Amino acid sequence: SAMFDSLSRSIEKAQRLIGKSGTLTAENMKEPLKEVRRALLEADVSLPVVRRFIKKVEERALGTKVLEGVTPDVQFIKTVSNELIDLMGGGTGAKDLEPGFPQIILMAGLQGVGKTTAAGKLALYLKKAKKSCLLVATDVYRPAAIDQLVKLGAAIDVPVFEMGTDVSPVEIAKKGVEEARRLGVDAVIIDTAGRLQVDEGMMAELRDVKSAVRPSDTLLVVDAMTGQEAANLVRSFNEAVDISGAILTKMDGDSRGGAALSVREVSGKPIKFVGVGEKMEALEPFYPERMASRILG
Ligand code: GDP
Repeated sequence: SAMFDSLSRSIEKAQRLIGKSGTLTAENMKEPLKEVRRALLEADVSLPVVRRFIKKVEERALGTKVLEGVTPDVQFIKTVSNELIDLMGGGTGAKDLEPGFPQIILMAGLQGVGKTTAAGKLALYLKKAKKSCLLVATDVYRPAAIDQLVKLGAAIDVPVFEMGTDVSPVEIAKKGVEEARRLGVDAVIIDTAGRLQVDEGMMAELRDVKSAVRPSDTLLVVDAMTGQEAANLVRSFNEAVDISGAILTKMDGDSRGGAALSVREVSGKPIKFVGVGEKMEALEPFYPERMASRILG
């Protein structure tokens, strides 16, 4: 996908502007930083996030002792790379799912973002890691959503627990976890109702399900195509129900990548996985350093 192409080109251009002689100064970074700033805004990263990012790059670049033999353009790119990694959550690997037995994973998200698909993908991902799973269907408002999960489960050979649409989501979730314990599975993934927009009813229901099953992870599924709006959604869900992380879907599409860059900074919570296609196999752990090197080309 061409997601970060424009950003990559701009960073390359900034590097060329700096050149290979002398040292980094506030003066010779001015235009290059403007270029990076423009590219981040174009990638749909929010203005405050971009401002903080540019300021940090400038401070670090000026404050770091340059190693002998390192040209200023390389020094600049190294600094941008470090700050990109930091922006996306830092660390040396992907953020794992929280431990538990069974691991209880609550999936939340607006309708159409790819939540049910992500539930299936996560089950397959865990299955490949030799963990047995149970999927639980609690979207009592849309029978089609329950059918969809049942079909996904059949396709990847993972059992699906459902009680139709006449029982409350809280009750289904509780019974689902009981069933998971009875079966002795390693993980239970609870799909919840997706709504067209955030409303208090949705949040209250999610809170109720959450306190009933005490999940090890509460993952908000957001659509990368929605850019900085995705990051804002992660923040509001986190404020309302305290999530453990996000799954960013449709990273294979032609989104501008702003969501991947902003979720952590805007919400304080990590992206744990990314969806990269419609197939059940198309789920990957999110590695900030891999994403940063993709951006830098
Ligand atoms: P839900 O309403 O949030 O449960 O959304 P669904 O799981 O039904 O997904 C909505 C649509 O998005 C479906 O057509 C999925 O195939 C598609 N989809 C989900 N994840 C991805 C992804 O990572 N990449 C692409 N290209 N499509 C996806």
